[in-house]
Amino acid sequence: MNENTVPDVADIFVCARCGFCCHGETTVSLDERDQERMIKALGLTREQTQARYWRVTGSVVQMQVRDGHCIFFDDQVGCTVHEGRPWRCRQWPLHPSMLADEDNYRTITDSCPGLNKELSYEQFCRIFQALLDLGEGGKFSG
Ligand code: SF4
Ligand code: SF4
Repeated sequence: MNENTVPDVADIFVCARCGFCCHGETTVSLDERDQERMIKALGLTREQTQARYWRVTGSVVQMQVRDGHCIFFDDQVGCTVHEGRPWRCRQWPLHPSMLADEDNYRTITDSCPGLNKELSYEQFCRIFQALLDLGEGGKFSG
């Protein structure tokens, strides 16, 4: 990207659909809007959604884990609740904290093969900041 080019998220990130971010023994938590979006996307009632897909601990709602990954992750197709996925899944891996913390940028870059590793940290930050300035933050994740 040169100085006059409109930035494109693909300049810094294209999801490789490796599934790394959907694995682990816990998942991101769902806020109220996430819950409503997911219920709508699934076409189920809240009670059905909770019974089939959520793990509720006190006031914390997460997705259930199966075989070491989020219940919605499928090896062949990736996220099976794409339209209804939580905002943290939508944001990943482009977390604004990377702009202020190069160590955090390195940590995330090491775990996500979709980030463009040919860019320097400064180039990455310039493009990412331009995208955020355009209001493109939080819409990136595949
Ligand atoms: S966001 Fe990154 S870690 Fe997650 S599936 Fe895409 S490439 Fe893999
Ligand atoms: S909701 Fe989708 S993107 Fe988020 S962890 Fe589960 S499978 Fe991955």
